[in-house]
Amino acid sequence: MSLRLYNTLTLEVQPFAPERDNTVRMYTCGPTVYDFAHIGNFRTFIFYDVLRRWIRATGYQLDHVMNITDVDDKIIRNAVARRQSIGEYSARFTTAFFEDSESLRLERPERVTPATGHIDEMAEAIRKLGEQGYTYESDGSIYFRIAKFPEYGKLSHMDFSGTRPGARVDNDNYEKDDARDFVLWKAAKENEPYWDTVVGRGRPGWHIECSVMAIRYLGDTLDLHAGGVDLIFPHHENEIAQSECLTHHLFSRFWVHSEFLLVDGQKMSKSLGNFYTLRDILSKGYAPETVRYLLAQVPYRKALNFTFDGLKSAATAIDRVRNFDLRVKTGKFEEGSNPDLDARAQVATGGFRAAMDDDLNTAEALGSVFEYIRDVNIAMDKDEFRAGNVASAKAVLDLFDLVFDVLRPTAATDGLPDEEVEAKIEERRDAKKARNFAGADQIRVWLLDRGIIIEDTKDGVRWKRKP
Ligand code: AMP
Ligand code: ZN
Repeated sequence: MSLRLYNTLTLEVQPFAPERDNTVRMYTCGPTVYDFAHIGNFRTFIFYDVLRRWIRATGYQLDHVMNITDVDDKIIRNAVARRQSIGEYSARFTTAFFEDSESLRLERPERVTPATGHIDEMAEAIRKLGEQGYTYESDGSIYFRIAKFPEYGKLSHMDFSGTRPGARVDNDNYEKDDARDFVLWKAAKENEPYWDTVVGRGRPGWHIECSVMAIRYLGDTLDLHAGGVDLIFPHHENEIAQSECLTHHLFSRFWVHSEFLLVDGQKMSKSLGNFYTLRDILSKGYAPETVRYLLAQVPYRKALNFTFDGLKSAATAIDRVRNFDLRVKTGKFEEGSNPDLDARAQVATGGFRAAMDDDLNTAEALGSVFEYIRDVNIAMDKDEFRAGNVASAKAVLDLFDLVFDVLRPTAATDGLPDEEVEAKIEERRDAKKARNFAGADQIRVWLLDRGIIIEDTKDGVRWKRKP
């Protein structure tokens, strides 16, 4: 148990362990469900997933809470334009988010909490902050007075001492380098949804939702809070201010932030229009696990430039591991065991664990698996691999798949059209005629990956779809 993580709060890589018992109390900022998430967003969600999996592999249990931001300026704007309630409007994108998450094999957090399910608790928290003098009102909206919290800036390591007092902002999109009193509660506007609460008629700002739901489910002090680097300021800085003024305890011991997915050196984002949704990528014929692998293979603190070449390399890498997996599981090996190869497997699992423990260095972890695969493929070619070595090879593959989870091919849900299956079967027959048996077998496996089972009978090839 020697997991170490980079903590944005201390700017250091520190040993990580839960504070109480064996359970890690973790909060991650979830999606704003105003549209389909793009694969930049999913880089962050895949990072949460890798983090979850490795925390558990380390031997801890998890209580992980993730919010769904289902009320915000953009949701209201779009819902009003379509004459829908915000619930009707956002439901579609919440469903899409979980469908995409499932295709990407993201484990579901222990608790997923929609903001609109906790409005009264948010109002109550704002009332309490008001009682202690941390807030002021203006035109029915309520603001947090950051001058009352001298530690403001401790996460982003910025100095706000010269900040103009009283300057404030109340929209959900912030100027990133300007600290201002931020809105806790927005007064109801005409034609906008509102709630009647102890602090009046209106709706909560974005920041308070995370503080309230995190404390409600996980207690005053979290072990770990994560998000993308763009959330450090102001969102997480504001979460700290609200939470610590409410509870007078440290809000989170660790703050862990993942870097961006870029396109041509710029952040992938809706506003720049340089984004792909997962659906866009799948419609080009890529499997979801290829996206998962591409986004997980680069350590989370390194920016990653998205290209289709990168996606193709990810597909090739997955194929290499799957071919090796197939060879291990179906190969006919001589009895006995080769101790050198078991030792080689130990080095691979040891290297993988050490790399993941080192702030989730996925690139290095993969390096140790691929070196092992290369060496063992050579040993197999030379008939040095024995039946007794299968178990240690499987252990390496299991450890790899515990984190990366790409060995199982995604079955095509709506399937290949019949004509395409027939064309592939013809291609395979031609390959066989040309005595290219390896090529013919590749086509068989390709079809199998897409849920098509083929059978050679004396009357020719028969095929069927996997049930
Ligand atoms: P949103 O749905 O806009 O609230 O964003 C959800 C998550 O996606 C946040 O944690 C962001 O930090 C993250 N995010 C947004 N754009 C990117 C990107 N290009 N690369 C990585 N993460 C991103
Ligand atoms: Zn948040």
